[in-house]
Amino acid sequence: ESVIVAIDGPAGTGKSSTSRAVAAALGLSYLDTGAQYRAITWWMITNGVDVDDPAAIAMAAGKPAIVSGTDPDGPTITVDGVDAAAPIRTPEVSARVSAVSAVPEVRARITELQRSIAASATGGIVVEGRDIGTTVLPDADLKIFLTATPEVRAARRSGELKGSDVAATRDALIKRDAADSSRKTSPLAKADDAVEVDTSELTLQQVVECVVTLVEE
Ligand code: C5P
Repeated sequence: ESVIVAIDGPAGTGKSSTSRAVAAALGLSYLDTGAQYRAITWWMITNGVDVDDPAAIAMAAGKPAIVSGTDPDGPTITVDGVDAAAPIRTPEVSARVSAVSAVPEVRARITELQRSIAASATGGIVVEGRDIGTTVLPDADLKIFLTATPEVRAARRSGELKGSDVAATRDALIKRDAADSSRKTSPLAKADDAVEVDTSELTLQQVVECVVTLVEE
């Protein structure tokens, strides 16, 4: 029996750490869909595609080969065979990814990739993103929507990006969430049947235990 868990929410809510730990605890595969959108954005920037031009983005959407490794103990991402794990985390990619992700041709292509990865994951998979429960995998066995206050999210994210300024991180996160929530094609949203977990006052371990319990119920 194969179990599919969808974990959505804005940036800095602990989605990636939670999703990886839940997948590892349950022996499931793990897919970071944000990394796929970051990868296609990075490819566009480094290949001279004008990322302020939705038509140019749409034309290029089918070009890069994006491959995700789904082991929760060591997820990987390559673009045209090149390891993209580090370059997709730069502030430049973070600032551009919402605009690239809003282009319908990009979403169609990445969504298809996500569905085929989920369908071929023997045993099951934890898929994290923004529109997994609403659009990509609406029949998921369990849907979680993680939230946290903007202050907590910014503090967590600046802890990850060593030496970065909390106020600037907070502003960048709020801007990205607003763009992700307001786009026309599958915006960041909580599915009607998702369980909402406010992680502001919880440790990572507490959130993981909560989700694992919900999967096992
Ligand atoms: O999860 P992460 O913060 O790395 O995601 C980066 C960006 O990718 C998001 O801000 C959003 O613009 C886009 N994204 C998306 N749909 C998803 C996952 C990520 O549009 N399912």
